[in-house]
Amino acid sequence: MSTTTEQAVVTPPPVRCTKILIDNEWRDAVSGKTFTTINPATEEPIAEVAEGDEEDINLAVQAARRAFEEGPWSRMDARDRGRLLNRLADLIEENFDELAALETLDNGKPIRDSRTADVPLTIDCLRYYAGWADKIHGDTIPVRGKYFTYTRREPVGVVGQIIPWNFPMLMVAWKWGPALAAGCTVVMKPAEQTPLTCLRMGELAIEAGFPPGVINIVPGFGPTAGAALVRHPDVDKIAFTGEYTTAQIIMREAAPTLKRLSFELGGKSPNIVFADADLDAAVAGAEFGLFFNQGQCCCAGSRLFVEDSIHDEFVQRVVERARSRRLGNPFDPNTTQGPQVDKAQFDKIMSYIEKGREEGATCLTGGKRFGDRGYFIEPTVFDDVTDEMAIAKDEIFGPVMQILRFKDIDEVIRRANQTFYGLAAAVWTRDVTKAHRIANSVRAGTVWVNCYDVFDAAAPFGGFKMSGIGRELGEEGLKLYTEVKTVTMSLE
Ligand code: ADP
Repeated sequence: MSTTTEQAVVTPPPVRCTKILIDNEWRDAVSGKTFTTINPATEEPIAEVAEGDEEDINLAVQAARRAFEEGPWSRMDARDRGRLLNRLADLIEENFDELAALETLDNGKPIRDSRTADVPLTIDCLRYYAGWADKIHGDTIPVRGKYFTYTRREPVGVVGQIIPWNFPMLMVAWKWGPALAAGCTVVMKPAEQTPLTCLRMGELAIEAGFPPGVINIVPGFGPTAGAALVRHPDVDKIAFTGEYTTAQIIMREAAPTLKRLSFELGGKSPNIVFADADLDAAVAGAEFGLFFNQGQCCCAGSRLFVEDSIHDEFVQRVVERARSRRLGNPFDPNTTQGPQVDKAQFDKIMSYIEKGREEGATCLTGGKRFGDRGYFIEPTVFDDVTDEMAIAKDEIFGPVMQILRFKDIDEVIRRANQTFYGLAAAVWTRDVTKAHRIANSVRAGTVWVNCYDVFDAAAPFGGFKMSGIGRELGEEGLKLYTEVKTVTMSLE
């Protein structure tokens, strides 16, 4: 009989790409500087990566501008842009195992997640947008008088894309897919914690045949490389995923050049369980919705609202599931929880656990470091959480669940909306009316009913309120990379 326990531990792959990619050439930083990327499971260095700065950003933007204005990209048929995106997806598929292992090495996420989520979703997203490349068009508009008026959807231009470390590859696909389908050129700055898969995807993009300057990658830090990209007058748009506090800085820095901005930020998403729910599914959804990816999801269901009458049973079952998570070597296919991405995140999460205790919440399980090597944290569940506690208000971005009780639907809607975030929400119930009332009343960009974390490249994702501006994925995501041009011709 074949069981998962027989699967072999995966070997970490060699690291191939550690330099800056500009004009399809690999370069050292102009300053010659490098930074170390760390394996979060062992705290050991993986590789030295070129540390891009303002001068490298300037070169990358120049290359992207040239490719946008003059290069073969600017003259390429839309259908051929789609073919290149498909070719890139094919090459990722051909190198599936290597990329999954590289993601696990750099980020620490379990290999089973890299294999079942990150890499397949990356491929799917690129293919989805490949299909859009030749389907972006304007309208003909019936105006008054003897005129013929139509619109064109043109690429917004050179785009700066700044991404986080929680889904490093997938964030590349969410950003490159729509930008390249629309005909933009890109300068990407991957997160300093996880530059490796992005750089390898850059190498595959060259192999796929993207012309020089279309895709440029400048690894480096936010306040230097990231900020230079945001300020650069020749960048037309910034697409950013990360913390709202960083987005506030970006908005300020982008003001002098009035760049187009799209943001996908954090959340404190309510996950609401009514007494009439399928409890097996709701318990599984509560666990997955919070602990998936070590709790490092912007849409994590970190406020678990449980109806009073089922509270005790539900909590007991959620705690059992939390305790059954398998922490350890992320290269072991049986591992379900890896380390947090770095020491800073580890320290921040541990300080929130401390705060939760001080504020009077009850820690039912976890609450400690796991092991003595790597940034592992035990799956942690807090009960008796109240709305004013910091652990109920702030985004913790770790494996820490907050359980809150509620009595009726009006109360839970009001409390669910008591946050400046508005990224996602979920509701578990067999009552269609309750499900629709929650779906309509909770101010969030995505509402899941009897499921959690269901993503599809075709379905828009993004935030209300301080969880973001604009939507990624689907046709909505594509529109963020186009400008509408109105053309009016006299018919006399
Ligand atoms: P996190 O705390 O999850 O790392 P951040 O918002 O700090 O979230 O980082 C997300 C991305 O934004 C990273 O690529 C980071 O380097 C970049 N970044 C951080 N600060 C700035 C900044 N001032 N300007 C531009 N990019 C930044």
